[in-house]
Amino acid sequence: MISLVDRIVSPPDDALKLLQMLHEAGFDAYVVGGCVRDSLLGKTPNDWDICTSAMPDEMARVFKGQHLVETGLKHGTLTVVMNHVPYEITTYRLDGDYTDHRHPDKVVFIRDLREDLRRRDFTVNAMAWSPKTGLVDCFGGQADLENGLIRCVGNADERFEEDALRILRALRFAAIYGFRIEEKTAEAARRMACTLSEIAAERIQVELTKLLCGKHAVEMLREFSDVITTVLPDLRPMVGFDQRTPYHRWDVWEHSIRAVGAIRPDPALRWTMLLHDSGKPAAFTIDDQGVGHAKGHQVISASIAGQVMDGLRMDRQTHDRVLLLVEKHDIDMRPEKQLLLRQLNRFGKDRVYDLIEVHRADRLAKGTVPEDEVEDWALDMRRALDDLLASMPCFSLKQLKVSGNDLMSIGFRPGKAMGEALNRLLEAVIDGDCANETDALLTYAKTLAHEE
Ligand code: ATP
Ligand code: MG
Repeated sequence: MISLVDRIVSPPDDALKLLQMLHEAGFDAYVVGGCVRDSLLGKTPNDWDICTSAMPDEMARVFKGQHLVETGLKHGTLTVVMNHVPYEITTYRLDGDYTDHRHPDKVVFIRDLREDLRRRDFTVNAMAWSPKTGLVDCFGGQADLENGLIRCVGNADERFEEDALRILRALRFAAIYGFRIEEKTAEAARRMACTLSEIAAERIQVELTKLLCGKHAVEMLREFSDVITTVLPDLRPMVGFDQRTPYHRWDVWEHSIRAVGAIRPDPALRWTMLLHDSGKPAAFTIDDQGVGHAKGHQVISASIAGQVMDGLRMDRQTHDRVLLLVEKHDIDMRPEKQLLLRQLNRFGKDRVYDLIEVHRADRLAKGTVPEDEVEDWALDMRRALDDLLASMPCFSLKQLKVSGNDLMSIGFRPGKAMGEALNRLLEAVIDGDCANETDALLTYAKTLAHEE
């Protein structure tokens, strides 16, 4: 008997307790799905899902008196909260027909674990475990885990036809674990990718973001560029687009996906790198020497990024951060005080740190700049910014030691001219022409008033 407890991350005591309560009431119960997969991989699962032969009303009876959240008893799911951790317990079920490629038309509760496992997406996700029975692996999930394979349970075409989201789930799991997608599953994924148009944008966004943040995202983006660009058609022109420039070794797609792999797995940063050069094909020109240019591509990329983010219903914060970083991915960045202060003023501290990361990843992915040169540059930039910020510099009107009221006291009248004067004072402070001290600033302001 394979014991999760021996070689693997074992279920928490509370999960075992829930299994035991069901067992004692005469029902079968197992931990199932992602938690079994992750345990067998030696990873700590996000959550522990339980499945059981108990019908919804029987579950409700077994857990009467516990802290319950009745999220979906109609669909056979009861959530029991133990020590602040929610556990989803679901009656074994069959999914009815999927006429919309996503939602089963009805669910049927059953007493047979094997049938419940059969409706699950991939063999590695279709395993269950209980202390009584050990591992239940009807579809070769353990062997596929060992061989690093994502394989549909049953016929891949049928499974993707039932629910097209599974196509992106396959890519997502492969990108996270560094698995390959089994041949028939991969073929079906390509063939059925167009049906992803029927899936809600938010669901697609979640899967793509997880895929992009996977440790092995680059391999998946390369191997399944056709699937990705079916979902994101705005990006199709990037694939194979020859840049014809000595600054770039790879085509636009290959450069972009390498840039994805070169930045840390933060959703906004990964999306930024995927999209930062998406406007290049549209901006492309060739000069007399046959060299390619993409002047102004940053703005086109930002507009494409906006379409992609809106289309995927991305949250506002990520949306705004990605658009700014895409549009500014190419700005002049040097460890120079005045330049940094102006950027701090325009973009804020967090975005300037982001831009250093974006530049670093972009340059690493060009394949023409020595890696250590790029890393040294990034280190210098970070250090310069750290040191500058540690000196508590003034780079915004908020930090300026004079206000509109102070200017009024020396004769300025409220209005546009006063706003301009404040900005001129900030410029003078950033340029080192005036100290950020009230008296000095007021003296400086008087010279401005004089100019007018
Ligand atoms: P993680 O929680 O790490 O994202 P997971 O495998 O637990 O991965 P969930 O979305 O939490 O993914 O789903 C739990 C289980 O339900 C899966 O392991 C799988 O058995 C099943 N499942 C989830 N989504 C689908 C689907 N679209 N089609 C078929 N089975 C699914
Ligand atoms: Mg899960």
